[in-house]
Amino acid sequence: MALTATPIPCLSDNYAWLLRAADGRLAVCDPAEDAPVAAVIDPMGGKLDLILLTHHHGDHVAGVPGLVARYGAKVVGAAADKHRLPPLDQAVSPGDTVDVLGSKAAVLASDGHTRGHIAFHIADSHILLCGDTLFSLGCGRLLEGTAEQMFASLAALAALPGETLVCCGHEYTESNARFAITVEPDNAALKARIAEAQAQRAAGKPTLPSTIASERAANPFVRAPDIATLAHIRAGKDNFR
Ligand code: ZN
Ligand code: FE
Repeated sequence: MALTATPIPCLSDNYAWLLRAADGRLAVCDPAEDAPVAAVIDPMGGKLDLILLTHHHGDHVAGVPGLVARYGAKVVGAAADKHRLPPLDQAVSPGDTVDVLGSKAAVLASDGHTRGHIAFHIADSHILLCGDTLFSLGCGRLLEGTAEQMFASLAALAALPGETLVCCGHEYTESNARFAITVEPDNAALKARIAEAQAQRAAGKPTLPSTIASERAANPFVRAPDIATLAHIRAGKDNFR
């Protein structure tokens, strides 16, 4: 029984991802705020079963207490980050499988942006919830982890089936695009993705979800052939204006 994933804009550029099962049950990943999420859930029946967390940053977890108080949702997050996440009902580790509204989600290690960052891959629904690890045309800043860890994380995510929907934590695609085109000025897939993202934004729509196939073809961080290259372009992006 497959799930659908819909982005809910939070703060200035975050997305919480609403997961809906065919029977109407709901889950949400990385709620930065409770009010925008509740505003979507209440007209849909006012129930929230589950909250999935990719990492501990406030712009991914600050909505949790309000949503738990309002709906009694169960909270799933990384065992390694238990000490700095909201209280967890289920602490998981890479390699574990989580039941998400009747679908199986594989917990993937995705260190790099933070240590202890995880991603959830729901294979039957072609959904990847990857927080601040993989963005469309970019990747997360290396705030705690190393380029080596980010390289391994991106490689694992890029190895997922091409049709997998990349449901990431931020609407960064256009700013990522401005840097990406300086790394790969002749990449036709990148140019096409930039045009697509510009049209999506001009129409007031999210540029997400992207797909793993699109990121493999157009994202210079995913396409970096080795750790040194990834470290180099990550540093370049950090200093890019
Ligand atoms: Zn973050
Ligand atoms: Fe974030």
